[in-house]
Amino acid sequence: MNFVPPKPAPLSPDTIARFRSIVGDKYAITDQADVHAYVTEDRNLFTGTSPLVLRPGSTAEVAAICKLATETRTAIVPQGGNTGLVGGQTPYGGEVVLSMRRMDKVREIDTSSNTMTAEAGLVLQIAQQRAAEADRLFPLSLGSEGSCTIGGNLSSNAGGTTALAYGVAREMALGLEVVLADGRILNGLSKLKKDNTGYDLRNIFIGAEGTLGIITAATLKLFPKPRAVETAFVGLKSPEDALKLLGISRSQAGGNLTSFELIAHIAVDFSVRHGIGIRDPLTSKHDWYVLMELSSGRDDARATLESILEQGFEEGIVDDAAIAENISQRQAFWKLREEISPAQKPEGGSIKHDISVPVAAVPAFIAEANAAVAKVMPGARPVPFGHLGDGNIHYNVSQPSETLGDKAGRENFLARWHDVSDVVFEVVLRMGGSISAEHGIGQLKAADLPGVKDPVAMELMRGFKAMLDPLNILNPGKVLLPVKP
Ligand code: FAD
Repeated sequence: MNFVPPKPAPLSPDTIARFRSIVGDKYAITDQADVHAYVTEDRNLFTGTSPLVLRPGSTAEVAAICKLATETRTAIVPQGGNTGLVGGQTPYGGEVVLSMRRMDKVREIDTSSNTMTAEAGLVLQIAQQRAAEADRLFPLSLGSEGSCTIGGNLSSNAGGTTALAYGVAREMALGLEVVLADGRILNGLSKLKKDNTGYDLRNIFIGAEGTLGIITAATLKLFPKPRAVETAFVGLKSPEDALKLLGISRSQAGGNLTSFELIAHIAVDFSVRHGIGIRDPLTSKHDWYVLMELSSGRDDARATLESILEQGFEEGIVDDAAIAENISQRQAFWKLREEISPAQKPEGGSIKHDISVPVAAVPAFIAEANAAVAKVMPGARPVPFGHLGDGNIHYNVSQPSETLGDKAGRENFLARWHDVSDVVFEVVLRMGGSISAEHGIGQLKAADLPGVKDPVAMELMRGFKAMLDPLNILNPGKVLLPVKP
């Protein structure tokens, strides 16, 4: 990325003291040893600096922080669980980090309206557990669910493994409470499914990656808890066959098909090799795999799953399949899928793409991207996996095995990130796809955005930014880069 962000002017001791007095000494962090965890992320790809981390405990405190930030022209980076993959949650250098993790209360669960009103810092897994305790389902599910937060999920409009049936985070939120850059509080915590009283303000903040306002709470949709969940791990020959199996599954299971994950052989291999206690559920080896799940309010999910697989065998699409016999087997199947991301780390540098194309174009995308990557970087190892049912593939490319363990080899490989991305994005755009299906733009893709987004859409986005954050203090340099004069 060529963008060099302007460093904000250093905060004066007086300004730091004023911020500190809003949250109290205990929740204002200036010791750089403690600040470190907030200015780096797990993969060490996006590392910045910050003179101050604030950990507010209430919406009123967030409002006071934003008001003071406006007065003092202080740049703020909102942060939830710090699991984002595009560097939206870490500062470039000198911004104040606003960690929302302390705001983690469930304010209300309303089982008649099927809603949960939760604060932004609530960890996704706890939200799922609280819904389950009320005999309901909060279906959003990601590999990072033990750490990511509701505020981060909404700000990045997270997708995950259940989007096929329940939609992305945007579709799970009925209302939002948002603190604006100047400290005003937008109270939009509606429980209404139907409310046509003007513009849809909620959706402007969802997916805005903290550049338009700070989400402090949300009213989330809850769903009936399924009575039966059935999971299968399937071996097949090609993404084309996986697409055919998706068609069969959709026609037999309809809305009960909740997940349909495509996984390349190399990804299963990485997960088994590096994940602790991970086993391939199938005894035979296959070029491609599908992890699929059905959920039903009745007890018919098993029979439907068996019937889908039977048709798949008969049509020569499915080569082998294992159905989870109990919850621990089901968890083991999912663990294999979730370990794919961490398992890429010991395999050297990884150039990651989170793309989407029309579902029918996924097989052609994988074939063309593989050919393009082989040309630009011979020996690099594509590791495609992801949410086939949503046309969303994590098209990651691992360093060639010959240079593994070699520090310079890793650095040389990562230095060519944009050469590889350019050829992958060329295929994506030609197929009518998106360069960011679910992870967002953040720092990573901010420079790419103007080249791929409709120019009028870019103008409107800049217009919203100018209206809601005229001083550019909310997450500056993320999503939208300054326009050159
Ligand atoms: P953070 O990383 O802290 O922040 C993300 C963005 O939101 C930043 O721009 C930040 O400034 C902004 N933000 C955070 N909180 C607020 C707030 N309260 N108000 C305003 N802005 C805010 N993502 C998917 O979509 N699907 C997946 O399947 C998926 N799987 C993952 C698996 C792993 C192992 C990992 C590490 C990540 C995965 N992710 C996935 C990416 C990431 O977990 C999600 O983007 C998640 O929603 C981020 O939540 P967070 O609380 O960690 O947010």
